[in-house]
Amino acid sequence: MNSAEYIKKALRTEPKLEFTKTKYIDERLEHAFIGICSEAGEIADLLKKVKIYKKNIEKIEILEEASDLLWYIAIICDYYKVSFEELMEMNIKKLNKRFPESFSSKARDKVNKAKEYSEMNKVIN
Ligand SMILES: [Mg+2]
Repeated sequence: MNSAEYIKKALRTEPKLEFTKTKYIDERLEHAFIGICSEAGEIADLLKKVKIYKKNIEKIEILEEASDLLWYIAIICDYYKVSFEELMEMNIKKLNKRFPESFSSKARDKVNKAKEYSEMNKVIN
């Protein structure tokens, strides 16, 4: 399955809600943002099981939550008409700008968002 097929199939299960566009943000995006936070909470719950309760978790449990995150990312991609490929490319451009050689704390502390955004915008503009 390619990413365009994934987005189409994933959004088949998106609730058909009456989203409104507020002055600041479209509620469809809010749904995606809150969903991402919810899934992050589920990942934190897995970590709690391991760290605090000393229980094993299965690979499939982690991958389930990662795939759930993709579902919400699909909404964001669809909303902005950006493909997963473009999103991945934007992320790599940002990382290349931020860490031209490899990760370093020094480079991390000198983040220049304007330059990163400029590189990322080249993917979609
Ligand atoms: Mg989940």
